[in-house]
Amino acid sequence: MSNCQPTFQRIGMLGGTFDPVHLGHLRSAVELHEALGLKRLHMIPAPQPPLRGEPRVAPETRLALLQAGIGDTPGLVADDRELHRAGPSYSADTLAELREQYGDQARLMMVVGHDAFLKLAQWHAPRRLFELAHVVVIDRPGYNDPLPGELRELLGEREVDSVSELMRHAKGGLLRLSLPSRMAISATGIRHRLAAGQSVRYLVPEAVERLIIQKALYRNE
Ligand code: ATP
Repeated sequence: MSNCQPTFQRIGMLGGTFDPVHLGHLRSAVELHEALGLKRLHMIPAPQPPLRGEPRVAPETRLALLQAGIGDTPGLVADDRELHRAGPSYSADTLAELREQYGDQARLMMVVGHDAFLKLAQWHAPRRLFELAHVVVIDRPGYNDPLPGELRELLGEREVDSVSELMRHAKGGLLRLSLPSRMAISATGIRHRLAAGQSVRYLVPEAVERLIIQKALYRNE
């Protein structure tokens, strides 16, 4: 008898404001693609992120920057689905769409950086996230605060300690990953640099830098 387990599609989602996308996002995306053996990682800009102020540039422009940043990188997709939905951009709704698209057996994983993870219990319908997907948390330099009590309560016994263990089920688990290239790059830092007339070379892909300059984005705070 063969002990081969059936393999199911592994699909990731990395949502964000991407105001603008930077190499912290993109290098993490490539390393996630490899570490999790993903068929596809959907990078999805939120037109109206519920837990923060209005983004600096329009959703269509942030999408264009993301497309330019991804270029032809295998396995990464600039996904515009939230731009077609009215109202606040809830990840639970996006995961429900992806679940519908890929079916019950797909290993669907929502990826968040540690900073975003610390606020997960305040998201819309946090329990529903785990009914639809696994949550994968990636390290981010400068963010290692302990988990708040309500988050620990939400997580319960969900945490596993390996990719293979996570893949035993289609959803409901939590995995914390430390990717090889952790980068202390933030969109806030990039916006500040641009407003101050400073260089963002090697913090964003050159195609993104070109577009920012061409469209004169983020010139002032
Ligand atoms: P801002 O500075 O405007 O808050 P940001 O750099 O945190 O932006 P977002 O678009 O808000 O970027 O992030 C989208 C997702 O990517 C979040 O889950 C965030 O934690 C994660 N992320 C952002 N930057 C990094 C990074 N340098 N390393 C790892 N994860 C990151």
